[in-house]
Amino acid sequence: MSITEVFNGACGGFYAFSSLSSSVLNLIANFGTETIKRRFLDKMVKGTFTGTMCLTEPEAGSYLADLTTRARRDGEAFRIKGTKIFIGTGEHDLSENIVHCVLARIEGAPSGYKGISLFIVPKYRVNEDGTPDLLNDVYCSGIESKMGWDGAPTATLHFGDHDECQGWLLGEGRQGLSLMFQMMNEMRLATGAQGVGQAAAAYQIALSFARDRIQGLSYRRQKGDPPVQVPIIDHPDIRRNLLFMKTVVEGCRRLIIQTALYIDLSKAVDDERKREYYQDLVEILTPVCKAYATDMGFRVAETAVQSMGGYGYIKDYHVEQYLRDLKVSCIYEGTSGIQAIDLQRRKLNIKGRANSGL
Ligand SMILES: Cc1cc2nc3c(=O)[nH]c(=O)nc-3n(C[C@H](O)[C@H](O)[C@H](O)COP(=O)(O)OP(=O)(O)OC[C@H]3O[C@@H](n4cnc5c(N)ncnc54)[C@H](O)[C@@H]3O)c2cc1C
Repeated sequence: MSITEVFNGACGGFYAFSSLSSSVLNLIANFGTETIKRRFLDKMVKGTFTGTMCLTEPEAGSYLADLTTRARRDGEAFRIKGTKIFIGTGEHDLSENIVHCVLARIEGAPSGYKGISLFIVPKYRVNEDGTPDLLNDVYCSGIESKMGWDGAPTATLHFGDHDECQGWLLGEGRQGLSLMFQMMNEMRLATGAQGVGQAAAAYQIALSFARDRIQGLSYRRQKGDPPVQVPIIDHPDIRRNLLFMKTVVEGCRRLIIQTALYIDLSKAVDDERKREYYQDLVEILTPVCKAYATDMGFRVAETAVQSMGGYGYIKDYHVEQYLRDLKVSCIYEGTSGIQAIDLQRRKLNIKGRANSGL
């Protein structure tokens, strides 16, 4: 999580290539058949192939149960047909191939969440030895023009317009969302760390600016003192802003590291009851980390711009970029509102926790 924070502080958009690829890599490593692993794993690990997560559709955003992308069995693979929107790093020429992880419904599967399966769908088909082959009927019809996060191209992708799009099933059919959810806690926590990394970078720029920028006279000046100008960090209102930013950044960082520790403990301890205890903590804290660290991170970036005056608003110091880049982390991986619903309806109520005091 600390590495995620640091890289996002440097450039969140560009880091998306690596973080999305890691998610796809983990899904293949955990749920791929030997055929899938042989074709994709080695190149994903080396970074020769990058990865994307294709969930969202024009009519299915927060409520993925409505997704309409279809899969039809074709020998040991499937034919995929449908449209995905807002796909981060969905089209580019930085890697030899792009491996899409696509949620789709196998023909005959029930509607709703239960009928959804997960597929690996490469941009170029891949031979047994992992070498890329012909195009796989995945077509990008556009790259979004966005408020920020410009380092990560956000694509509209059409799968199977010519019925030639080959996909490989991960895990069992109709398990798509449950496989995704096994990765979801770490992905949501990483999004929280993204918020902290960008907020921390904005705070550091504002702090260093406040030490350098000379403006106005000291509030401590007595009648008759010479009119010596001071750096703006001397002004109480600027100090208040800086302390707000520092408090939020350090508090959210601690919250995320602590939750990451609980994830490790939930896997490492031998005692089953303790393992379950840590798992419960992770379930409850993850939506809090995701929503709170990103919403508050955005406020930190806004405060950084404000505390630098006009210099925060112009592009020279890049602090406005953190404000624009940060907003998306409050939206993807489930909006902050959806995290609140998840916490209140699902996490606090399972196993009668509302009454158990955990
Ligand atoms: C830059 C960018 C990159 C993205 N990258 C990816 C990606 O790589 N892969 C991918 O699959 N998707 C990606 N997304 C899509 C993102 O996950 C969705 O935008 C997000 O899940 C919200 O869906 P939506 O935009 O359809 O909004 P909607 O679901 O239409 O929601 C609109 C508003 O209504 C609220 N709302 C919705 N349902 C409820 C409810 N039941 N109760 C209360 N409030 C509700 C939401 O909180 C939101 O404020 C990306 C989006 C952006 C902007």
